[in-house]
Amino acid sequence: MLETICEVMLDAYKRNWITSRDGNCSIRYQDRDHFYITPSGVRKQTLQPDQFKKIGIERGYYDQPPRLQYSHRELDYTQISSNLRPSGELPLHFGLQREIVDDTRVVVHVHPTYCIAAMHADIDLSTISRSFPELNRYTRVAPTVGDVAPISQELADWCHNNLGLDSGGNIQYNIVGIRGHGVVTVDTTPWRAYEHIERLEHICRIVLASGVKC
Ligand SMILES: [Zn+2]
Repeated sequence: MLETICEVMLDAYKRNWITSRDGNCSIRYQDRDHFYITPSGVRKQTLQPDQFKKIGIERGYYDQPPRLQYSHRELDYTQISSNLRPSGELPLHFGLQREIVDDTRVVVHVHPTYCIAAMHADIDLSTISRSFPELNRYTRVAPTVGDVAPISQELADWCHNNLGLDSGGNIQYNIVGIRGHGVVTVDTTPWRAYEHIERLEHICRIVLASGVKC
């Protein structure tokens, strides 16, 4: 599926949803204690599966009383990837991948034009979804995250919170917008995740064309 992620990121680039080195994606298979994440700063037009970073997930009980805590560390993968760093949005992906439920989990982060334009125009993406049943039917849109710095723990925490992530890895929504920045979407395959973005982007374009704020 890493090849499919490369196709998805190339498609996002062709749609102007990212510039060359933007965007990131991760995937975890249900029965593995690691996940793969796109490397930092690699051009998405030429992204290859052997460039991905492999990240191990570790659990431990610390503090008194003991409390389950998670940490991550880079694992050996390929020669090429050993010279690369993981995406700067690793905290965002790690939080969504450290516990998963039932199936493969894919997390995609890109910067779709009309989603960002709608948020810039003070339109809450979760409000839009209520007015358009075709969006609502397949894609659950979370309340928008406000202005937070990219590649920060704060961005990760707000995205986890607004997506409705619980300690067992359940997630309430499929996609969340980050004001002035982009979207994060979660599903079981790269293309399924991508379709949430496509659907929301399409509706945002229509809403902006109408000039009505929903
Ligand atoms: Zn971004």
